[in-house]
Amino acid sequence: MPTKYVVVLGSLLSGLGKGVVTSSVLKILDFYGYRALPVKFDGYLNFDCGTMNPYQHGEVFVLDDRSEVDMDFGIYERFLNKDLTGDLSITGGKLFGSIISKEREGGYLGQTVQIIPHLTNEIISRIEALAAKKSADVMVIEVGGTVGDIENSYFIEAMRQLGLKHDVVFINLTYLPTLDVVGEQKTKPAQIGFRLLLQDGIRPNFIVCRSPAALLDATKEKLALFANIGMERVIDDRDQETLYNLPLHFMELGFDKLLLDDLGLKRRSLDRGKVGSWRESVRRTVSPKREVRIAIVGKYTHLKDSYASVKEALVHAGARTDTGVRISWIESSEYEDGKKDYSVFDGIDGVVVTGGFGTRGTEGMVNIINHARTSGIPYLGLCLGMQLMVVEYARNVAGLKDANSSEFGNGARHKVIALLDSQKRVTSKGGTMRLGAQECVLPERDSIAYRAYGRAAISERHRHRYEFNNAYRKRLGQAGLRITGLTRDRKLVEFVEWPSGFGIGTQSHPELRSRFEAPAPLFVSLLEAAIKRRQA
Ligand code: GLN
Repeated sequence: MPTKYVVVLGSLLSGLGKGVVTSSVLKILDFYGYRALPVKFDGYLNFDCGTMNPYQHGEVFVLDDRSEVDMDFGIYERFLNKDLTGDLSITGGKLFGSIISKEREGGYLGQTVQIIPHLTNEIISRIEALAAKKSADVMVIEVGGTVGDIENSYFIEAMRQLGLKHDVVFINLTYLPTLDVVGEQKTKPAQIGFRLLLQDGIRPNFIVCRSPAALLDATKEKLALFANIGMERVIDDRDQETLYNLPLHFMELGFDKLLLDDLGLKRRSLDRGKVGSWRESVRRTVSPKREVRIAIVGKYTHLKDSYASVKEALVHAGARTDTGVRISWIESSEYEDGKKDYSVFDGIDGVVVTGGFGTRGTEGMVNIINHARTSGIPYLGLCLGMQLMVVEYARNVAGLKDANSSEFGNGARHKVIALLDSQKRVTSKGGTMRLGAQECVLPERDSIAYRAYGRAAISERHRHRYEFNNAYRKRLGQAGLRITGLTRDRKLVEFVEWPSGFGIGTQSHPELRSRFEAPAPLFVSLLEAAIKRRQA
């Protein structure tokens, strides 16, 4: 069967949840047994988002194959429960880079290289090659940005041309503002957005309408009339209690059937078991048996997107344990002063210290880790959160008063965290960290790590330049810090634990592997410890 395509385009404004709509379409196709894969287009001229500050672009997501990609890949993987690859991420930087090197090699001899047809052909052939390589039944292409932007205009043109060669279904995600005074959903902006797409030669099959409240029949009718499409093709995308309900919501509206029909795909039998357990997880997320409070401590907390995977990993673990997770966001830079009041942690059942780069906020993290350890609050440290767990332990238990990471305290005598050997000669920044899936062994059966994973050989994703300094393994071990995870060659420390209570840090980012249908084991263990503490 030739691959079919769905293209998701956003109108009017960003932040409408295009990634969640794309993921819901992917999940629906997956429920029907089709092999569906995403492609994401980002118009920026960076090769990838790895060198951007999280405040610019939210979290940098890392795949098994070492690619640093847009955070939407996190949403796709969390819905699809599949490990994706970096070639599915197409950026302006990658496209222009390859066009220019092709031109220098003489790939276009005699020609003037232009956006149309050279760049658009490059896009189409990349997508076709991906579809063939991955033997996809359907590729669901999310176009980053908004219709009308200069950045993605050539990509939209390429999608129009894709539609001339293949079966392509276009979805226009739009926004319906509601005027509070009259409670009326206004369709004019959506009409204008739709018309912009028509100008680009694309006639959407569906208009998906984001709005806080349910789409009113009158609104649907009006939009259908002005956009000249059937009413059943105007799809309600109201706020959901959990975003994982969106595929089920779309299916209740019959969007799945129309989509399959438009793609010319048979309505193959739906995997009812899969849908049923998804629905049960949604139920547990929306009305859980119990609740715990978890503090997420970070240095980029003013933009919650910086920690999307951590937050979602807690949701997944909550769905597994039938527990609602109330999150308190803690900006660590506010805790740099040792005299800070820690009473906000009084009702907290678990603390997660997240990854990050640079000095700001790290002393606050050390203070908070100390508070968690000495108050017996379950603790999970992710990457930087593990490194600072080592620093805290070295300073306050092992008596190495000025211990620090060489990333921050270059003057410190005890650099208990130091640059990886493999990083010492690295000078350029893009894609040069220790990245991607790395294998790890958990030799100690009575450790939190082993009990969480239930096996000794595991693999997790990484993104760091610094590591536990082996010169301190013995000294910190003697002081009671447990080393419970190592790389296969035993050279690098991957997991450390406090000798008592629930405290674990990992050099990896287990949150990047957490899925709604397969929560990250360490997050499940953290919640179990938090539940115990709450019940005690
Ligand atoms: N900055 C630290 C390092 O590079 C931690 C990285 C992270 O938390 N992802 O090792």
